[in-house]
Amino acid sequence: MLCWILALSGLCFPWNLKLKEIVNQGKLVSDEIIIDLLSKRLEAGEAKGESGFILDGFPRTVRQAEILEGVTDIDLVINLKLREEALLAKCLGRRICSECGGNYNVACIDIKAENGKPGMYMAPLPPPPQCASKLITRADDTEEVVKQRLRIYQAMTLPVEDFYRSRGKLLEFDLPGGVRESWPKLLHALNLEDEEDKQSAAA
Ligand SMILES: [Zn+2]
Repeated sequence: MLCWILALSGLCFPWNLKLKEIVNQGKLVSDEIIIDLLSKRLEAGEAKGESGFILDGFPRTVRQAEILEGVTDIDLVINLKLREEALLAKCLGRRICSECGGNYNVACIDIKAENGKPGMYMAPLPPPPQCASKLITRADDTEEVVKQRLRIYQAMTLPVEDFYRSRGKLLEFDLPGGVRESWPKLLHALNLEDEEDKQSAAA
């Protein structure tokens, strides 16, 4: 069974709404809830003939990774890495339209290459004119909360990288920018460029 885990992810894949809600709030999900939801979801998927799955932002602790190992086989873990200043700016730039619920981002991240570190560019995601005057900021998108999430990541989730590194399953991927800049390079890193060519030819 093919599975990728996106440990620190800007990309979103539908998984389980209940779990996604909890994860999106930046909380750590109780391991009992995870086992329950994940096992049910995997069983249902296999029954429907699904050939693989992607977990986004999970597992977040070594204990969860150990539990997951007992539930299913993981083929590959992709560690999507973003420089902390870009991560912080992007979180602080998030805006929601109070009327239609649309998600936008006012941050324009343009970090120049220096000292051998590559630069990166992430364009803003501006709202359409009808939403522009109705933008609000999520209450938990403050510098304090984002930095707290980063501290939790360092303490609880960083060891998960070692867990998979030691099993030869960790692919490190430095995000060069937003989805537009990152997607082709990610496909290249995964040797999946041909697959996309086939899909666009078929579309
Ligand atoms: Zn709107």
